[in-house]
This record gives sequence, structure tokens and C-alpha cells, in this order.
Amino acid sequence: MTRSRMGVAHSTDHGTPDPRFPQPQSPTPTRCQREPQLFDRDYGDCRKEEELAKARRACSGCPLVTDCLKWALVNEDLTRVGIFAGTTPHQRKQLRKRLIDRLGPDWIDVLADQDQARRERAAAARHTPLTVNQARIIRMDREVNGPMPTGRLLTPAAQQRNRDRLVHALSA
Ligand code: SF4
Repeated sequence: MTRSRMGVAHSTDHGTPDPRFPQPQSPTPTRCQREPQLFDRDYGDCRKEEELAKARRACSGCPLVTDCLKWALVNEDLTRVGIFAGTTPHQRKQLRKRLIDRLGPDWIDVLADQDQARRERAAAARHTPLTVNQARIIRMDREVNGPMPTGRLLTPAAQQRNRDRLVHALSA
């Protein structure tokens, strides 16, 4: 089995984690660390539906769920079996296909670049106070488009819609 749970690298791992995507960490043990037997198994057998539902419920309440899903999608070799962020291996396979369709065959590089850009923006924002205009734009964006999505990719159409709403609000 090629597995690696959040913060726990198993000695049977065969793959190497992509260093651009740090494994999500929690200050307290996650449910999959406390009850690995519920997550680290093959759910191909439909008689295990109840336990699968239990694992999924645990993931839906986990603070790491978004980063966990990204980590599991990127590190395919380490997540060929079991439940990560409520997904089965088959579902992760489908999600990877969708990402290829949407972002291209180099989707992992695209995600890594996005993460890097986000980190750089956050670092720059920490060191550079916002101008009055920048603060106004951010405030307005939050008002018309809601909070920034975390870890969720926006489609180009959704990005365009957000831009249109913002431009409209700023020119009103
Ligand atoms: S989302 Fe699920 S699999 Fe991922 S760290 Fe949390 S409990 Fe574990």
C-alpha cells in the first residue's frame, strides 16, 4: 500500500511527495490519524458503505479538507488507496481528469504557480501597506463577490463575472 496520512509518512510509501505542496498539518490529530483503519482501506466493496459514509462525514468537518484534497490529487502515487478529503481513489481519478481538461496536462505546475503567486502576494501585502484606493477595491470586491474562495479554483467565466461586478460597482 502506498499511503501517507497527514503528518504521518508511512515507511511503506513508494512515491515522493511533491515539495511544492506541503502536507497539511493540524495542531491536533485529525480523525484519519486517530482512526486510520477507517480511512486506509479499499472501499471497492459496497458492503462497507456505512463505514465509507462515516469517513466522509469526518472529512467534511476536518479543517484540513481543502488542502488535503489538493495534496491527495497532486500526490497520486501516495494516495492510490483509501479516503482523502472524503474522496475515493476513483473519484480522485475523475477529478484529475477534470483538472487536465480544465487546466491542461501540466495542471500540477499551474496549481503550484498559483500557490506560489498567492504566497508572494500575501508576503507583499504583509510588508506593503495598502493605498486608500487598493483598500477600497478590496472592500468593494468583498461586497460584490463575497469572501475569497480558499483552495477552490475559479473558472475563467467565474473570474470574468467577478471582474464585471467589481468594475460595475467601482464605476457606480
Ligand atoms: S480531510 Fe479527512 S483525510 Fe484529510 S486530513 Fe482531514 S480527516 Fe484526514
